[in-house]
Amino acid sequence: MKVALHSIPEGFFKTPPPHNDDQLFRLIKKASSLGFKYFQVGPFRKDRFSQIDGKRLKPVLDTYGMGRTVHIGGLYDAEKFALTEQEYVRAQKEIDYGIKLCSEIDSSLMSFHPPYKFPFTINESTLSKARERFLELVNNGVESAHREGIKLALESYCYTPFIFNGLHDFMHFVSHFPSTKLGVLLDVGHLYNAKFDLDEAIRTFKDRLLDVHVHDAFHYTVQEDLKKATHLPLGKGDINFSLLLSTLSEANYNGCLSLEIRDTEQEIVKSKQYLENLIKTTPM
Ligand SMILES: [Zn+2]
Repeated sequence: MKVALHSIPEGFFKTPPPHNDDQLFRLIKKASSLGFKYFQVGPFRKDRFSQIDGKRLKPVLDTYGMGRTVHIGGLYDAEKFALTEQEYVRAQKEIDYGIKLCSEIDSSLMSFHPPYKFPFTINESTLSKARERFLELVNNGVESAHREGIKLALESYCYTPFIFNGLHDFMHFVSHFPSTKLGVLLDVGHLYNAKFDLDEAIRTFKDRLLDVHVHDAFHYTVQEDLKKATHLPLGKGDINFSLLLSTLSEANYNGCLSLEIRDTEQEIVKSKQYLENLIKTTPM
């Protein structure tokens, strides 16, 4: 397992998002100076990065010898996604862009989110339409990605207000596709916050696990404010990371642990060192 940077240190960019190519390049340089060898690019939306020119990005990643993955993310309104062309086309364009970016920068993995509806007022028939169309969207995505030698990973948002109802329902959707084309990005902080058992999640996703988003968290019943309950430096929430690493190791996971922390540079580096020590001391 190896630690990747997906966080932006607090106050690193002096201007509000979305950030442009040059700002992203500066972050990659910073990641390298902090000792990171893997970097997750994205997500591309108004609170993070604008669309990036992959042809300019690749030499920057190469210069710093940085391993790379792409995280498109994507916040798609499940109701509009089910009922309008506009939202479906928007989601499709984002996925197509992610695949293009992966091939431009030589990344073999792109992760993305399922649609959601908040508050969850969606009726049964619209929900099943959203799921049907998402299946079609993912099908087109995995086929075009596969032609480029890229795998897709769906982030583990498997609960309300997303369109899935639990780990097994989520896995049932993923298993419509061969594991050579679609896997899972496990987000430990969000699943923990939503009171899922992380051991069970890892066992469920075992054969499909392609990436892990790592941040500390509290159960939503302990801390109701989502901002204070997730994306915390390791040790500032309630997750047992030593147990998490053993379970990942037992599941033969050997991919990235992508830090997704909202805090200072110093806290991000502390979390990186903490994880790296755990990797060293966990029997593989
Ligand atoms: Zn995540």
